[in-house]
Amino acid sequence: MTEHTLTVAGVTVDTRHWIGGERLASAATFTDVSPVDGAVIGEISRGTPQEAEAAVAAAKAAFPGWAATPRAERARLLHAVADGVEKRLEELAIVETTDNGALLRSHRRGVMPRVAHNFRFFADWLLTLGHEDFETRGHTNHVSWDPAGPCVLITPWNAPLMMASWKIAPALAAGNTVVLKPAEWTPLTASLLADIAAEAGLPAGVLNIVQGYGSEVGDALTSHPDVARISFTGSVPTARHIAAQAAPQLTPLSLELGGKSPLLVFADADLDLAADLAVEQYDNAGQVCLAATRILVEESVAEEFTRRFTARAARLRQGDPRDEATDIGPNIHPRQLDKIDGFVQRALAAGARAVVGGHRGEGQYYEPTLLTDVAQDSEIVQEEVFGPVLTLQTFRTEDEAVRLADDTRFGLAATLATGSRERAERVTARLVAGTVWVNCFFVRDLQAPFGGSRQSGVGREGGTWSFDFYCDLKNTVTAP
Ligand code: NAD
Repeated sequence: MTEHTLTVAGVTVDTRHWIGGERLASAATFTDVSPVDGAVIGEISRGTPQEAEAAVAAAKAAFPGWAATPRAERARLLHAVADGVEKRLEELAIVETTDNGALLRSHRRGVMPRVAHNFRFFADWLLTLGHEDFETRGHTNHVSWDPAGPCVLITPWNAPLMMASWKIAPALAAGNTVVLKPAEWTPLTASLLADIAAEAGLPAGVLNIVQGYGSEVGDALTSHPDVARISFTGSVPTARHIAAQAAPQLTPLSLELGGKSPLLVFADADLDLAADLAVEQYDNAGQVCLAATRILVEESVAEEFTRRFTARAARLRQGDPRDEATDIGPNIHPRQLDKIDGFVQRALAAGARAVVGGHRGEGQYYEPTLLTDVAQDSEIVQEEVFGPVLTLQTFRTEDEAVRLADDTRFGLAATLATGSRERAERVTARLVAGTVWVNCFFVRDLQAPFGGSRQSGVGREGGTWSFDFYCDLKNTVTAP
């Protein structure tokens, strides 16, 4: 450990920014704390508008060279980054678990392989992007996908490197340069990614990372006139602020925001599958934007469904996320825990009943919770809790199910459990949601569009949709 590094489980992490291919320290630092045991991990450079400015300047300077780099070479370098992620997968997994408290086994087997896959997928997709031609009265219309410029990418703490790579990979593939601002609660794996990118041979200034609080470096990034795109994943209030900052420059935004997604369980469903899907919503201690936190069950099977659900919930093991046997780890921060408990206690005071949980656990853990007797217009049904808290309501008809499911200001996802394909088609057609899962959850092809409707977001990313956002599409019309 030196003045500018810290060590997590034997892995050395640089605590400085990564700007223009160099490490740069701020005068001030902020403290990074592990949600696993509340231990201080170390001090991280606390960015200021000056470092934000320097990072945008570095991205701007590197842009012409990277944009002019042949597609095949850009793709090769992104594959080299993926190789580096795979080589350091164990290190990334333990560092991420220490930093955000999500399960080590998920990081090992799901998340970090997906990080590598994000780089490979967008590298390969870049090579398939066509140059379309149309003809009008003898004139050719030639469509090209031009890089847009420096992109600002702002990410949350619940899936830090996954989210970062989901944005960095297509932005870089498209020929843009990037300034990433990781969440201040989880700064570490982004710093490791900077090392990996440098080792892979990514030119200086193509990827820049500024650490720090959104309130301190955010505005300098999101209101910068040299920034061509802003891609943000996080909460609705922050999105509103960023949109206002971007508005004077009319900087295009991609916003991936919160959710309050429903899980509809119809009487014709396989109830074991439905109960499995419902318990899955506790994954990552409920800190998943896509989580189906509102369970809506057809009245005739509600009792049986609840019985199967509670039996499964009772088997969940809550504890140290580094332990392979653990199902639910800690929540990210004491402040978040207070927020979760506030939601639950207010719901209970308003007449809700805790069928499962309803309390804080030891340390930074919250008991997986299921609340019934909740009103549709209550806070607990309408607001995103972002913790292991689910509600259960019943319905009698398909119409009522759709009405309850859709009565929300969000529109990120919906999950259906039903034995009827016709019903699934009917209900899906009526729901407002970026993703609908039928008898499954969380599976998704990266070619498909991802994003939210209503206040769950603006725009879609994934496959061609990512390139749509990160490119300036140009139509060149040539006379015969
Ligand atoms: P948040 O909005 O508090 O913070 C997200 C990021 O924004 C952080 O990096 C933060 O530092 C930064 N930020 C804060 N203020 C800023 C400012 N003024 N300018 C620029 N950046 C600023 O959200 P969070 O608590 O970290 O994340 C949880 C939220 O993210 C939940 O609502 C969740 O549903 C959502 N989320 C959505 C998706 C999705 O894909 N739709 C995925 C994961 C999380």
